[in-house]
Amino acid sequence: MRKKIVAGNWKMNNNLSQTQVLLSALKKHLPATEAEVMVAPTFVNLFPAFEAMRTSKIEVIAQNMHFAESGAFTGEISADMLKSVGVETVILGHSERRAYFGETDELLAKKVDAALQNEMRIVFCFGEELEDRRSENHFKVVESQLKNALFHLAADAWDYIVLAYEPVWAIGTGETASPEQAQEMHEFIRKTITSKYGEQVASNVSILYGGSVKPANAQEIFSKPDVDGGLIGGASLKAEDFTAIIKAI
Ligand code: 13P
Repeated sequence: MRKKIVAGNWKMNNNLSQTQVLLSALKKHLPATEAEVMVAPTFVNLFPAFEAMRTSKIEVIAQNMHFAESGAFTGEISADMLKSVGVETVILGHSERRAYFGETDELLAKKVDAALQNEMRIVFCFGEELEDRRSENHFKVVESQLKNALFHLAADAWDYIVLAYEPVWAIGTGETASPEQAQEMHEFIRKTITSKYGEQVASNVSILYGGSVKPANAQEIFSKPDVDGGLIGGASLKAEDFTAIIKAI
């Protein structure tokens, strides 16, 4: 079902005590909202975070996972491990994973399948680079990212998918897509899903926007009809900013 969602991707920030401080501030100041709120601490802090948030409406999610069930993959984390510490949702395909860790659409398709086999929900990230937009290839790039990693799925698998459109040029740069650019792309994404899966799947999928969302611009971006919320990086690291963004939805 399509929902409003605000998710904080903490990336490689916050050690254990910083994680605990931020979580308790969020727990205390979480505004009344119908939106789902999620935070993604780093792997080592997932279990303490899950424990700390047991009595909160904020869901603790993971930033990544490996596709294999187990085995000789030094340094990696499986879906089963995540589930065993209470994690039900995983971010996959973040542009930093694609850019710095060589994650391809093909690899992401495997990760998507592994998450689904474990009945995990996926926040699937994708988005064009600045060059793609300059050369007016942004729609093509986004379409192929979606098709390559997700269009092998059966229609009912889409109940587990949340999309996060994150134009790479807007991530951590202070430059946001304008609300109109976000709406234009989100509408295109929904149309692309409609052409493969039909209206019902397309209208039920939540599509989040990510890239320099701040308290000052959140409301305008969230007001667009095809924008169902946000995936927040930098501004999710301060309780005051993150709660202000939650209020904006
Ligand atoms: P910023 O909000 O810091 O631009 O990061 C967005 C992001 O990458 C969320 O996943």
